[in-house]
Amino acid sequence: MKPLPKEFDVIEIEKRWQRKWEEMGVYRFDWEDKTRTIFSIDTPPPYPSGEFHMGNVLNWTYFDMVARYKRMRGSNVYFPQGWDCHGLGIEVQVEREHNLRKRDMPPDKFRKLCEELVEKYIAMAKEGVIRLGCSVDWTTEYRTMNPDYWRRTQLSFIILYNKGFMYQGTHPVNWCPRCETAIADAEVDYEEHEGTLHYIQFPLENSNEHLLIATTRPEFIPACVAVAVNPSDDRFNKYIGRKIIVPIVNRAVEIISDENVDPSFGTGVVMICTYGDKEDVKTVIKHNLPVIMILTENGKINENGGKYAGSTVDEAKEAIVRDLKAAGLLEKTERVQQEIGVCDRCEAPIEILERKQWFMKTRILTDKLEKTANEVVWYPDYMKIRLIDWARSLDWDWVISRQRVFGTPIPIWYCKDCGEVILAKEKWVPIDPKLEKPRIDKCPKCGSREFIPERDVFDTWMDSSISCAVHAGWPDREDWRRLFPADLHPSGIDIIRTWAYYLMVRHLALFDEKPYKSCLINGMVLGSDGRKMSKSLKNYVAAPEVLDKYGTDAARQWAASGGATGSDIPFRWPDVEYGRRFLTKLWNAARFVSTQLKDYDAGGKYELQLLDKWILTKAEKLTQKVTDALEKCQFNIAIEDLRNFTWHIFCDQYIEAVKDRLYKPELYGEEIKNAVQDTLYTVLYRIIQLLAPITPHITEEIYQTMYAEDMRQKSLQLAPWPKLDLGKIDEEAEKKGELVMAVITEIRREKAEKRKPLNTPIKRVKIYGGKSEFARIISENKEDIVGTCKISQLEILSAKGNGRHVQEIPEISFISEY
Ligand SMILES: [Zn+2]
Ligand SMILES: [Zn+2]
Repeated sequence: MKPLPKEFDVIEIEKRWQRKWEEMGVYRFDWEDKTRTIFSIDTPPPYPSGEFHMGNVLNWTYFDMVARYKRMRGSNVYFPQGWDCHGLGIEVQVEREHNLRKRDMPPDKFRKLCEELVEKYIAMAKEGVIRLGCSVDWTTEYRTMNPDYWRRTQLSFIILYNKGFMYQGTHPVNWCPRCETAIADAEVDYEEHEGTLHYIQFPLENSNEHLLIATTRPEFIPACVAVAVNPSDDRFNKYIGRKIIVPIVNRAVEIISDENVDPSFGTGVVMICTYGDKEDVKTVIKHNLPVIMILTENGKINENGGKYAGSTVDEAKEAIVRDLKAAGLLEKTERVQQEIGVCDRCEAPIEILERKQWFMKTRILTDKLEKTANEVVWYPDYMKIRLIDWARSLDWDWVISRQRVFGTPIPIWYCKDCGEVILAKEKWVPIDPKLEKPRIDKCPKCGSREFIPERDVFDTWMDSSISCAVHAGWPDREDWRRLFPADLHPSGIDIIRTWAYYLMVRHLALFDEKPYKSCLINGMVLGSDGRKMSKSLKNYVAAPEVLDKYGTDAARQWAASGGATGSDIPFRWPDVEYGRRFLTKLWNAARFVSTQLKDYDAGGKYELQLLDKWILTKAEKLTQKVTDALEKCQFNIAIEDLRNFTWHIFCDQYIEAVKDRLYKPELYGEEIKNAVQDTLYTVLYRIIQLLAPITPHITEEIYQTMYAEDMRQKSLQLAPWPKLDLGKIDEEAEKKGELVMAVITEIRREKAEKRKPLNTPIKRVKIYGGKSEFARIISENKEDIVGTCKISQLEILSAKGNGRHVQEIPEISFISEY
């Protein structure tokens, strides 16, 4: 066996193996293999944002550990990687970087700029994934912005349209006036803002009385269509059915009764506008009220706003407040804290607009979704509630059209004369209706030969929410159902409402089947101050900084050990440093073993001693615990047990206790030395096997130098996972070994406290066993104690003594003389 070198360069080792694994094709999925079990991972195609952050390190490490573990368990692992390209985020970036708006240039030119930016971002993300040592099968790489992917998105739309899931309708939608597009509920963030509550007099018709209305949005007064009070509110219910004058526009509207009005909020009288907020939408639908839209798509007041037309929302608010004051209708104002919805891509406050949009019927799937979510195995289990609660909270169907450029085109035309919807045929896709006409002669309804293309594009989630089927090979491979549903869908806690949800509704609608069998959730990365890591909080650490400084295997240990799966994980430099120190400890131990095994004869006779049986038993029990933990995605338990065993039991205890036997075969005999060599060989191999999914690089380096020749696997990553060997479990040896180790540890501890080097000889030690059974075990194994602690004269008594007590077994004590 070759000895490991003394020095080792973590970064060099990692880069070398990343390159070699790729050359060796270690991660290739074998489509032809019909014997091994398939394990398919639905890698969420990330939305490249131009950085690889610690959150990415956390979630990729999670699913890479699963992939590597399953590969060693003998599965044919499918670990694909795509990139989710389209979307508002990229468009907003392009607009900022080039200081322009999408409407300033032709759409195809704008799209080109988006594609260029995405490619730049993908390169950065890809480098991050590779540097993290992720065992991705790169032959599967895809981009959702490529026409070949459009084909899949468009095809899925056509199928769902024909199944009745897609419809076009004029409904209120969340609207970002800055991005000038509809957005889905999932794309709205909520922020706390300070606003002003205005108390405004609304005169009753044909009366001198007025009602007082408190509102934070007086600019919506021109869009007021009713005033509502609670029927049980005795102050106001007498007015129900009467007319009231909307100030500024002097229009009479009805006072309606609505039990959703909270009498204790504001004045208890509410103006209903189209649309000040989502509550307005509900009330308008419920009471079948008219709609007066006063906003344009870029957030200005339109002609329905009368003299305020053309001004921005903020300008209109100011002017209306001024006019109310002048008319003596503004009674008072108050500062209030309010929650407002903002666009999650550009942070502009959103409005609610009515515009013709495409929708997918998602709410009719909610019951089925709940049932299916309960069939999926969640890591951790309580996360499924988040999905179910989100689905239940949705008021509206999913708006899937976007008034943007950088998205998959909606494969639809409209007849110019009769408005008939012309849906692309399945074999026409991919197609961009803006560039191509429908492949029919005339409108099937009216015979017209002129068509207008749909200019809207799909929400980017329409691309990525079919990933489980696409990864499996749908629609091109006949055998795609071999990989469907995916065995594992990994996701972040923050995207359950998008990724996990949209995947579920799309696949349920398309195939009437769940898309994934299990869902692995990672929490958020917190800064060292305990708050969510973010650049604005100045607690942000970039992933390349961590990987450059301590290497990937150290960073992966941080991800694995930070906390239970699904919980938020704080980033702390000392955790990564600890991971790095562990690698040094492991390397030094392996190097020691490799130098001690130079003359190791694997076929030689050996006689296992108590401590050999003790560590072998412990190694088997560790195998059982780590295997259980990895099966349940409890990465923190696996890594903690492994580090404890390696560092404290294998290195600090076993290796120290057997050095004497290794160094003095003439004293103990060759068979006893052989036993130590064989045990070192076996236990170290077990350690690197169990660590291989978590710290793949250093374990591969040790494997290739020390074991590859014997084990004959081209990579440790392809070596079989250790099978539990119950024959090696010797409970009695473990118990006795524990006792002997406790005595040795205590004597060494005393040496350390006396600040003496550990190899300092001790003239005499008297051990009081406390009871005869303990004394007998100590006597049987006294060579190990004498040899390890360098004791010249050892006396063992079964009596109780009053020396230094052994921490782990206080009945035993000893007195030493230096
Ligand atoms: Zn926006
Ligand atoms: Zn027609």
